[in-house]
Amino acid sequence: MINYISTRDPGHKVSSSEAILKGQAPDGGLYIPESMDQIKKDYHEIINNDFKGMARAVWSIFFDDYSSDKIEELVERSYTGKFSSDEITPLVKTGREGAYVLELYHGPTSAFKDVALSALPNLMTAARSMNDFSDDILILTATSGDTGSAALHGFSDVPGTGIIVFYPYGGVSDTQRLQMVTAPGSNTRAVAVRGNFDDAQTGVKQLFRDIPQPKAGVSLSSANSINIGRLVPQIVYYFSAYRQLLDMGAITDGDMVDYIVPTGNFGDIMAGYFAKKMGLPVGRLVCASNKNDVLAEFLETGHYNRKRPFHKTTSPSMDILVSSNLERLLYYVCGADHALGYMKELSENGEYTISSEELAEIRSLFTGLYASDEEGAAAIKEEFESDHYLMDTHTAIAWSCMNKYRDSEEGKDAAAYVVLSTASPYKFSRAVLEAIGEDASGTDRENMEKLHKITGAPVPAGLAGVFDREVRHEDVIKTDEMRSYVVENC
Ligand SMILES: *Cc1c(COP(=O)(O)O)cnc(C)c1O
Repeated sequence: MINYISTRDPGHKVSSSEAILKGQAPDGGLYIPESMDQIKKDYHEIINNDFKGMARAVWSIFFDDYSSDKIEELVERSYTGKFSSDEITPLVKTGREGAYVLELYHGPTSAFKDVALSALPNLMTAARSMNDFSDDILILTATSGDTGSAALHGFSDVPGTGIIVFYPYGGVSDTQRLQMVTAPGSNTRAVAVRGNFDDAQTGVKQLFRDIPQPKAGVSLSSANSINIGRLVPQIVYYFSAYRQLLDMGAITDGDMVDYIVPTGNFGDIMAGYFAKKMGLPVGRLVCASNKNDVLAEFLETGHYNRKRPFHKTTSPSMDILVSSNLERLLYYVCGADHALGYMKELSENGEYTISSEELAEIRSLFTGLYASDEEGAAAIKEEFESDHYLMDTHTAIAWSCMNKYRDSEEGKDAAAYVVLSTASPYKFSRAVLEAIGEDASGTDRENMEKLHKITGAPVPAGLAGVFDREVRHEDVIKTDEMRSYVVENC
């Protein structure tokens, strides 16, 4: 069986279902498989399947204390009837030679978070009964915009669970906000925090340490990508993309494929790292950041420095200065002692520098690049005009980074370039309209309709209805009120 250890204490070991239940280790670390050897597999055995089959194969490796019947049942429940594409994550060939877009946003809330958050509540309820866990689970989640609605949707009315989502006041698009404040479910709450995403995330992490049981019979857990149950379902679409490239005849078996990932909390790209370690022919992973370029600088210099201005950009889900999942990579590359030291430096001084050997190892697989709002907007316009392909502002950052990457020595000659597309363009109608040179002074609703008229692409049902639903969650709190809010509302 695979042991899951804490990145801050390799002596602390739990099963996969316990790791999913807890979300975060008691010492503040993140759960990871103890050894990479145990996840290696001939990738042909995984890709020789449809999406659900690939999910079964990947989940069975990582979640090895769930029975195979259980996994099959959970995969069915997670992906049947929830996505508007049969492929779940379809790959689209673009007008640019060698470039493909992996559309991850065909789920209920139109962002890639749905791929994992359709699964997590099912994994968690199963973990509860497997471990004879009698407490109800209260999910606390900080969101930069998209996790919130996907998590509220996923956990809505799931027995034995409740969820509170904290989002930055004024830090999300109007559509994103409406998706959260109109979320259904008698066990759901969305609350605005006066601060940015990092403040909300730090607050939530602190609550896990301070009040793991906010009252008798209730235990906290997490739906953020710090939960390993969020990360593993995301590994599946790296395999799915490879399979679709083979089906299109775009690559031959064994070719190295590069993936370009619009990055915030480093979760999505960390899933790509696991895919590579499992044995998928991944060439390089390009970590694409927006103007909050802390990761691009880190991957260039080895110096992580969160003491910098926080920029609000048109790709708000990537407006993050402390990328939690990097801790997992540091553990594998730098070892337990160094990783722990760096995390300590980060919390005490706001910065740390890894050794040049460690940096070299990370750079043998990762490239860090960033693009500005203007560069992203130019990418949206260019792809729309030349190819009639419309992408959202987050995908556009990755697209722009792909262009820079392909101009560089290291990025010249991959067999294919897969840009992960993390949200529907309709979720960010205003910025997308502006990018293609249209007037966007209307309301979000008007902008969405206008974008539809121009492009002809259908508006996802979940987004179209958001303006007519009743607002159910109106609370606004300060960061230092998060604790009392949780205690009162659990
Ligand atoms: C969450 C999100 C990202 C960033 O993903 P991470 O796993 O946090 O790196 C990028 N784009 C969109 C649209 C998102 O919702």
